[in-house]
Amino acid sequence: MQILVLNCGSSSVKAAVVHTISGKTTLSADIERIPQNPFIQFPGEEPIALTQTGHSYALEQLFPLIQERLKGQALAGIGHRVAHGGHLFDRATRIDAAVIQQIEALSELAPLHNPPNLQGIQIALQLFPELPQVAVFDTAFHQTLPNRAKKYALPQDLNEKYQLRRYGFHGTSHEYVAQQAAEYLEADLRDLCLISCHLGSGCSIAAIEYGRSIETSMGMTPLEGLVMSTRSGDVDPGILTFLQEKEGLSAKELEEKLNRESGLLGLSGESGDMRDILQKAGEGHEPSRQAIQIFTHRIRKYIGAYAAIMGKLDGIIFTAGIGENSAVIRKRVCERLEVLGVHLDTDRNKDLQLSEEEPIGNLSEPRSRVQILAIKTNEQLAIARKTAGLIQERDRVNTLPAIPIAISARHVHLTQETLEQLYGPGYELTIKKWLSQPGQYAANETVTLVGPKNNIEHVRILGPCRNINQVEISRTDEFFLGIDAPIRESGKIQNSPGVKLIGPHGHVKLKEGLICAWRHIHMTPEDANIFGVEDRDVVDVHIGGNRDLTFGNVLIRVSPKYKLEMHIDTDEGNAAEIKPGDTGVLGSTELSGTLSQRRISKKKG
Ligand code: ADP
Repeated sequence: MQILVLNCGSSSVKAAVVHTISGKTTLSADIERIPQNPFIQFPGEEPIALTQTGHSYALEQLFPLIQERLKGQALAGIGHRVAHGGHLFDRATRIDAAVIQQIEALSELAPLHNPPNLQGIQIALQLFPELPQVAVFDTAFHQTLPNRAKKYALPQDLNEKYQLRRYGFHGTSHEYVAQQAAEYLEADLRDLCLISCHLGSGCSIAAIEYGRSIETSMGMTPLEGLVMSTRSGDVDPGILTFLQEKEGLSAKELEEKLNRESGLLGLSGESGDMRDILQKAGEGHEPSRQAIQIFTHRIRKYIGAYAAIMGKLDGIIFTAGIGENSAVIRKRVCERLEVLGVHLDTDRNKDLQLSEEEPIGNLSEPRSRVQILAIKTNEQLAIARKTAGLIQERDRVNTLPAIPIAISARHVHLTQETLEQLYGPGYELTIKKWLSQPGQYAANETVTLVGPKNNIEHVRILGPCRNINQVEISRTDEFFLGIDAPIRESGKIQNSPGVKLIGPHGHVKLKEGLICAWRHIHMTPEDANIFGVEDRDVVDVHIGGNRDLTFGNVLIRVSPKYKLEMHIDTDEGNAAEIKPGDTGVLGSTELSGTLSQRRISKKKG
């Protein structure tokens, strides 16, 4: 499929036609200086000056030129980069009148970016009314941030009134390079804990735990976090009021200072371009040297923090202009990260030249526990693939069978050894009730969970015994016990907290195993084929009935042993007012980019 990808900024437009299977850019063009002296630039050609200013005129001129150069190859759709999807969009979305209104409503959160993005959408809809168009949001990938990561410790009424929270940006890039890393490492993204450093003019870093963004450095706006070309990143908020008072700055002026006069430019007093800073530093320019130290120190600080948050680190990814090209910066960032098992191969780092043909370089020494990768990001390809995925998926969902929903109450799975510690040597579970999943039963036996705050008694043991101990509770249980449990799929208990169990014969202190179960759907390979999904895909499920709501982020589990059924916990069941016999309908696959790519890579392999 050929997809036109558009990124409409306030003064420039970047356009590319991308082939979604080969990943090649068929053609690209930029429109520059739209408000003053606009011109269209096709790479390697003379610029084409435009006689009128404004986005409408510029795009009207650009589109026929693109079609001319496509020489009859049809466009299948248009993918638009949209900066801010707020809390409304957690994935790429087909554009219709309602979506346009929603993007418009979010303009307050991104006044510089959303309005020109929207203008691009409206003009493209006028010029190509017959083509499907898709909005791909920079914030969407980070919608999985848990509350503890996304909330600011501000008065809750203000948080709610203005939707103040961390949204995060560069999501398309973080997601894309994480997928590329998984493919390169021949691993499933959902088994990896990665830290991705997008270091361009804007810089951000993300902790990607088992395929989901759980922390990121940019916040409600792209100003928070790392030091950037002209943006300050983190500063003590007290400085803002201090400066307002001392310098008599208005809010607008302060915003200007933080966004356009700070960062590398502010520190060096010379330039916001890392190439200039590196050169100046080499010539002995002290402020540029300091700018580099502060830039890399901040990244290293975030890497340490994110490793601590995930409790596991498989890879660090460097991407975007600085991350892909600067060996010096990568080297400085990796210094002293040996403590995390990060060992950079300095020769490979120095020699690395990424290209279209070789977009990934592995920079780790063989002994490095953490893989250090430099990966060429390709947001245009990611946008094109998401757009194509949505075009292909349209209408498919309506023909799919309904999925029965079951509420899974808190329960424990035990090893035979733990069971015997709790119930006595040689003890065997007795069956109270067979469960819907073949071979699984609720036992008559129960245990008491002991938390620092409270205990929960009569927690059912599910049989038969397994080879790991696992305790699955809801968020409400977690608060009642006083233990912070991660959301995990069954079996993924690494670095989860432990808990004490009491049985009639004795007690056991589990070192790990307490999780909030990730909502999931069990299905057979035949079902998976019908739904067009694979084991460990992540999907949406729409539930009708009283509440008419959609559960996002539902994990697919495929095994010949399973029966089609969605499992949610008691909190979720209560929220959705689920009754026996309720069913759900499968919506889109959240990681459709991952899926199409995974399938392609399988074919290649
Ligand atoms: P944008 O966020 O504008 O898309 P890019 O990803 O293109 O940014 O990155 C731009 C940044 O990358 C600039 O600060 C530029 O100096 C830096 N950069 C590009 N090439 C190099 C290089 N060889 N060494 C250091 N920095 C580089």
